[in-house]
Amino acid sequence: MPSALRIGVLALQGDVVEHERALRRLGVEPVRVKRPDDLEQVDALVLPGGESPAMIRLLRSSGLDRPLRDRLSAGMPVFGTCAGLILLARDSGDPEVTGFGALDLAVERNAYGRQLDSFECALPDHTLGGAPLEAVFIRAPAIRDLGAGVEVLARHEGRPVAVRQGNAIGTAFHPELTDDPRLYQALIERVQAAVDPARDDAA
Ligand code: GLN
Repeated sequence: MPSALRIGVLALQGDVVEHERALRRLGVEPVRVKRPDDLEQVDALVLPGGESPAMIRLLRSSGLDRPLRDRLSAGMPVFGTCAGLILLARDSGDPEVTGFGALDLAVERNAYGRQLDSFECALPDHTLGGAPLEAVFIRAPAIRDLGAGVEVLARHEGRPVAVRQGNAIGTAFHPELTDDPRLYQALIERVQAAVDPARDDAA
């Protein structure tokens, strides 16, 4: 039952309220994660966008960096959007930004050109079923060098912009700024499978 799921939203910076609203629409009451004891309360975490170097600093100063790294190594379901995706990457391409490596891929920060700093578009090329995904890109990273275990969930002009590897989902865009529930549903499925593995076997 979704309401029993404990999904956190990292609340150090970024679109916290919008992610919370998206989860509530699906019947999940989110938990704000600002400190290590908040992290202990959750079965999964959303990492919002923002500025990845600032997020790294805030993760360190809040004491969340190490426990979050440990939870991700243990397979906690996670959904990183934009800067959140950068934090999950194996290689951020930036020595200031040491990612958690939950996704076996490299990113290039701010890779979309200046005129495309921010844009909205429909993504017909996706694996989530149904209509094109509505996507808002804001100084988005490019996703490169995908490892063999990484599944592409959506592409923009042929290039991957949403991916999944095990329990980790990442998007270069901001799903919290549209009404599309499908990526949050994908996270919820991972959380349900993680907290109740029998459900995964039955699926
Ligand atoms: N440009 C930001 C970074 O490199 C990401 C932008 C975003 O999260 N909207 O961290």
